Amino acid sequence: MRILIADDDAMIRDVLKEELTDAGHQVFEAEDGESAWAMLQEHALRFIISDWSMPKLEGPELIQRIRAADLPHYTYCILLTSRNSHEALVHGLESGADDYLVKPCDLDELRARVAIGERTVTLEKRLRQALHRLQLLASRDALTGQFNRQAIMKLAKKELLRAQRTDKPISIALLDLDYFKEVNDEHGHLIGDQALRLAAETMAGAIRSYDSLGRWGGEEFLMVLPDANRAHATAIAERVRERLAACRLLLKDGRTLSLRVSVGVAEASPEQPTSLRTLLQHADEALYQAKREGRNRVCSVA
Ligand code: GH3
Ligand code: MG
Ligand code: MG
Repeated sequence: MRILIADDDAMIRDVLKEELTDAGHQVFEAEDGESAWAMLQEHALRFIISDWSMPKLEGPELIQRIRAADLPHYTYCILLTSRNSHEALVHGLESGADDYLVKPCDLDELRARVAIGERTVTLEKRLRQALHRLQLLASRDALTGQFNRQAIMKLAKKELLRAQRTDKPISIALLDLDYFKEVNDEHGHLIGDQALRLAAETMAGAIRSYDSLGRWGGEEFLMVLPDANRAHATAIAERVRERLAACRLLLKDGRTLSLRVSVGVAEASPEQPTSLRTLLQHADEALYQAKREGRNRVCSVA
């Protein structure tokens, strides 16, 4: 673990450093409260052992500042001080310290108390990682791994606002697999699921790195295409349609399954600012037109 020792007494820092380094920790040193605060942030340290009386900023104030700051992780704080009154202990803990040790402190006890802190820091790190994974999962569609409806909608809103702010065009594309009901009817739902995964993967592979794809629902997908006007977006959609038509799902009996998609493209140009709702309506109308005109094609509206 990386530990910061904040103490204006160089001898105490040396003793602590030797002890903690022997225990396998990496030690950082600060000789006053302000430089401790700067080091904590610069090196993203999660563990501090701080003296009480230090120049510039005292231990309890330093800890109060850590607790009040919106740091991206928890910081475990031990106050190590020669003040051994009951009042000092209460004040130290109330200022936000996790633990309070009185100098001169027994080095075995110090190591044991650092180990307690390490467990807290590790636990918090794991919780944070789990939360991050959950947040990722919550924005993904379980079947295809692409953004789910809520996430792609949020992204579309954000990109539309950005386009309006920067005076750039933006387009969206609504894609609906053709005659997909027949896939299920002929081959069963499991093959249907597999075909949906293949379709999503193929579409995701055919767009630019700054475009986004999400599952709109069932066999429908939504693409957000920043910086693309109607012609540009139509070309992207056309490429997606061709890629999908060219790929084959190999079935167990040796037969292959191919997919087709109809696409409706709609643009919000800087000259004609549109709400996402209207943009979606336009894309839906264009998609309906593509279906009506025979499917396996891209239609667009300005
Ligand atoms: P069209 O060309 O007009 O779009 O015809 P279609 O058959 O694709 O359209 P329809 O809306 O009638 O049917 C959509 C089908 O998509 C029906 C539904 O069972 C299937 N589907 C939707 N979600 C899933 C899914 O998660 N898994 C599977 N296997 N099928 C799905
Ligand atoms: Mg549909
Ligand atoms: Mg369909």
